[in-house]
Amino acid sequence: MGGSAAGLYTAAAVARGGRPVRVVESKPQFEPAARTLIVTDHFRRQIGPSGQESIVNEIRRFELFTDGRSAQVALNKPDLIIERSRLISALAREAQEAGASFSYDTRFLGIGPNARGLRLEVESRGKREELHADSVVGADGAASRVARASGWPRVETVPLVQAIVRLPKDCPADTTRVWFVPDDTPYFYWLIPESAERAAVGVIGERGSDTKRAFERFLENKRLHALEWQGARIPVYRKWVPVRREIGNGEVYLVGDAAAQVKVSTVGGIVTGFRGALGVAQALLQNGKSQELTALRRELATHWLIRRVLHRFQQEDYSQLVDLLNAAARRSLGEINRDESMRLLWNVARRQPRLLLLGLRGLLMGKGLKE
Ligand SMILES: Cc1cc2nc3c(=O)[nH]c(=O)nc-3n(C[C@H](O)[C@H](O)[C@H](O)COP(=O)(O)OP(=O)(O)OC[C@H]3O[C@@H](n4cnc5c(N)ncnc54)[C@H](O)[C@@H]3O)c2cc1C
Repeated sequence: MGGSAAGLYTAAAVARGGRPVRVVESKPQFEPAARTLIVTDHFRRQIGPSGQESIVNEIRRFELFTDGRSAQVALNKPDLIIERSRLISALAREAQEAGASFSYDTRFLGIGPNARGLRLEVESRGKREELHADSVVGADGAASRVARASGWPRVETVPLVQAIVRLPKDCPADTTRVWFVPDDTPYFYWLIPESAERAAVGVIGERGSDTKRAFERFLENKRLHALEWQGARIPVYRKWVPVRREIGNGEVYLVGDAAAQVKVSTVGGIVTGFRGALGVAQALLQNGKSQELTALRRELATHWLIRRVLHRFQQEDYSQLVDLLNAAARRSLGEINRDESMRLLWNVARRQPRLLLLGLRGLLMGKGLKE
């Protein structure tokens, strides 16, 4: 249920494994919305040749700013800028080639047991229908109706707003900028060039109206003018969401945003959503077993730890963080990507132990996320 990134990735993997798959998508037709996304190099290992077409730019450097200070991190393996509508088209093609069928304009409404597996209630082109399946995968995003109907608790979400702007003259097309402004948001602002002409500027906040106001102020200060707006609510990962439940003789799984499979440190959900999708495909094809899900759980837990530290940071902590990024610590950040967070964390701490102390202090003091 849900024909976006995580759903299509699952559909292709399960269909390749020889099971019949049907993708059910509520949108009336295949018109994925455009969105500029940044992912680590890990994405290349996950995606087939047609998915590579979604890569529109490469990022070789990060610049971090806070309170008049700055630090630069050169990336050994470039981050990738991908265009979501191209990615979704490529994934849909791959799922179709693997044998999956598609039902658009079909909204999932409810679920229950039947004699063999699961009975699904859907609304298809305005008419109520029943579908039958052995297994259902909820890939219907942060407000997942599959999750609610199957008894999972609601996941918490935060607002993300992004604007497409003309790339400022002083910003190279291979450099991402990040601003930490804790008075505005415990997360951060970013500027991601999608080409030599255009960039996505965005922010994650805690409350929708405050976030929008702070973002408008930020754009004005930087003299940036929004050409287009993109936005949605993003899940906040706090603890592992068990991905499987049984209903009668059938099984229901969750993947992607529906299972909060988002790196909560930087709020990226593509690579981790694909990992969740691969894990669920493995579980479906191998009687519930998946090493990928165990590894993903560890990865998401590390990002939760980092987020808890950053959420308590005040301005002086960010200033100290940027000052403490010595050449060796910056080397670790450039060598190891944020999809290998534990290795990254230990390497940075080994090369700049005072960062570890700053992090520990962050964990123990100040106001943090509501636990
Ligand atoms: C503006 C923005 C910028 C982002 N930037 C980044 C980034 O730079 N890097 C990164 O890694 N991540 C980023 N993310 C997060 C990332 O986009 C998401 O984590 C990812 O797209 C989630 O994919 P998904 O398939 O799980 O869910 P979704 O993309 O939300 O897809 C859910 C699908 O289910 C369908 N659906 C919903 N309800 C039903 C129903 N009842 N019946 C049938 N179908 C249904 C929807 O139509 C949709 O197609 C960003 C998100 C936003 C909004």
